[in-house]
Amino acid sequence: MREKWNGIAASPGIAIGKVLWYRESVWKSPHGQVENVEAELERYHLAVARFCANIENRTQKASARVRKEQIEILNTHVAMAKDPYLNGQIEGRIGAHQCAEWAIEAACGTFMTLLSSSADELIRQRASDVKDVRDGLLRLLMNIPEGDLSFVQPGTVLVADELPPSVAAQIDPRRIIGIITRKGGTTSHSAILARAMEIPAVLGVALPPLELLDGEPVIVDGNLGFALISPSEKEISDYRKKQAADLKNRSALKHFIGKETRAADGTRIILEANVGGFEEAVRAAEYTAEGIGLLRTEYLYMENPSLPSEEEQLEAYRRVFSAVGGKPTAIRTLDIGGDKALPYLELDKEENPFLGYRAIRFSLEEKEMFRTQLRAILRAGAFAPVKLILPFVTSLREIGEVKEQLALVRQELEEQEKEYGKEIPLGVMVETPAAVIMAEQLAREVDFFSIGTNDLTQYVLSVDRGNPQVASFYSYFDPAVLRCVKWAVEKGREAGIPVSICGEAASDPLLTPVFLAFGAASLSVVPGALLSIRREISFWNLKEAAEVTKEALSLSCERQVKELLLKKRRG
Ligand code: PEP
Ligand code: MG
Repeated sequence: MREKWNGIAASPGIAIGKVLWYRESVWKSPHGQVENVEAELERYHLAVARFCANIENRTQKASARVRKEQIEILNTHVAMAKDPYLNGQIEGRIGAHQCAEWAIEAACGTFMTLLSSSADELIRQRASDVKDVRDGLLRLLMNIPEGDLSFVQPGTVLVADELPPSVAAQIDPRRIIGIITRKGGTTSHSAILARAMEIPAVLGVALPPLELLDGEPVIVDGNLGFALISPSEKEISDYRKKQAADLKNRSALKHFIGKETRAADGTRIILEANVGGFEEAVRAAEYTAEGIGLLRTEYLYMENPSLPSEEEQLEAYRRVFSAVGGKPTAIRTLDIGGDKALPYLELDKEENPFLGYRAIRFSLEEKEMFRTQLRAILRAGAFAPVKLILPFVTSLREIGEVKEQLALVRQELEEQEKEYGKEIPLGVMVETPAAVIMAEQLAREVDFFSIGTNDLTQYVLSVDRGNPQVASFYSYFDPAVLRCVKWAVEKGREAGIPVSICGEAASDPLLTPVFLAFGAASLSVVPGALLSIRREISFWNLKEAAEVTKEALSLSCERQVKELLLKKRRG
């Protein structure tokens, strides 16, 4: 029966193949006592030596096929098996008469628990390396053969609960064309390897408890993060076409990884990413975003069962910095309300939540909570170039109040001798009609503008952005919206502050020439659009973009604007 499984888009691309369920052999190691400690230590040392020799053998023999990333994993395993700390723990247990299997299992178990409790995703992932080393050693001691992927048929989509790194390291992309797993995120070994080998992968899928029949047809969409099991003939043929187009497009886009973002006439544009969590930040870094133009902090509050503490927030921001290599990050204060609720706060139900107790209005009422976030953001500024963005601003009074809170927080941090960023620029989201109309005055009070076209479209056109019944009225191509964006960019530029555009419109290549012509200094886009927008920018010079934009703004409705921009699109 056809099924759709949703998960994390961990490695882009589309694969159409057959399922192979990877089953880890189930075995139980003995937990016995030994008399002869010396002999048991020798058994253990021999297993370590064989484990390392096997790996070295494998990397040498298959060096032509094995990738750098795979070799790195295997080398990590050798280093781990020889790790003096782990060895000491195991030897100590054998010295206390535990058999080698028991000693390995217990010592590795403690180590894994320690690693799994780290707040750092990358350290947590290392627990699976320890598990792999443990299993490798136990297999050798108990004579159990390793999972072997060399026999798999070309066109295989590997489905697994989890792919141990040693198994992932055996993957041959000529045979395994897609990966689906229940565990693992974008930074797991499986994800890193899948991307390195360009194998589409969807991870973090809630797999059904029953094992699928091997050989079942499956489509893996690593761009959107889902898999279709037993798809129809029509879906397969549609996906074949999508796959061909996707391949062509992706190979053209790859050229833009690591390139500076410049228009055809050399005009430099800063291209950043909008992210709502660590996983997206990892993707942004892979597509070489120049920074995070918008970090939506709601995820921190929504994923937590209660309000995140200052330390938890600081840790989360630092994780984002580690994902993007310390690049500039614009952190937006909590944008709660509207369509985003926080169950543990039990706020009153509102008739018009999008016009209600939302974002900065909420923060300025809940001052203690707001100051906790400001403290975390300011302290994060000691670790990376941070900017602060305020959402849903409708009046200058709000900026004044935020500055008062910032002054209080700075004073507290000084008194407590905490490290914090002393030069954190303060910006506003220009996403309400009031902010657009008052752009000139606002620009004198802040250091930058970030134009949020998602809300701006909603409020300018009076269309609920989440209501499907009025979806046809919601369009960022509407001349009314574009004129607002133009005005806000102009007022920002006149005041000498940089203006970024960060709503979804910035990720739409049809609008690239328009935003170039308006004079936006930077665009902040969804990670998956970074390369296509970088490419689109490279096709335009400012003079031609200005001509198209002039024509677009002379039109009277969104349909005409969209049609014109479709006709003019370069990419
Ligand atoms: C926007 O409104 O355009 C924006 C970027 O913010 P969000 O989508 O989070 O409201
Ligand atoms: Mg918004």
